[in-house]
Amino acid sequence: MNVTVMRQVKFCAGHRLLGHEGKCANFHGHNYVVQFHVNGKEIDELGRVVDFQVINQLFKGWIDEHWDHGFLLWSEDDNAIKALEQVEPNRIYRMPYNPTAENMARYLMYEIAPDLMSTVEGYDLQVTKVVVWETENSFAEVSVDNARAQADAMLEHAHRSRFE
Ligand SMILES: [Zn+2]
Repeated sequence: MNVTVMRQVKFCAGHRLLGHEGKCANFHGHNYVVQFHVNGKEIDELGRVVDFQVINQLFKGWIDEHWDHGFLLWSEDDNAIKALEQVEPNRIYRMPYNPTAENMARYLMYEIAPDLMSTVEGYDLQVTKVVVWETENSFAEVSVDNARAQADAMLEHAHRSRFE
């Protein structure tokens, strides 16, 4: 069997996009909604992939601790980081790339979710999709299928450039 459940987490955070051509280069914030899709190969004796409360505690717990009411910044954004470090207290989360919705979804999917899922004992769970809503009109989605499709496309491209 192959069953997927989804849990949603809401939070507020500030950011800016280093090098952005427009107003996203300024400090500003969003009310984010993140949807975590968790896949299990079987359901337990109570009929669950996993209890929603369990994954909520993990995902919401991580976001509360690291991102909620904080600033997400690219670690190379020295100017913004220095400015925010002047504020007491401050909560700065350094990302390995610009904190776009796309990169936030990617970060949660590949850097955070696997570790969180591995702490759920007795269940074989995989986060297969993370959707980050930046506004009610825009979201970015990273999924296992996307990742595979992207890898295939890159291989195809590499293959073609080698033989052309
Ligand atoms: Zn923004």
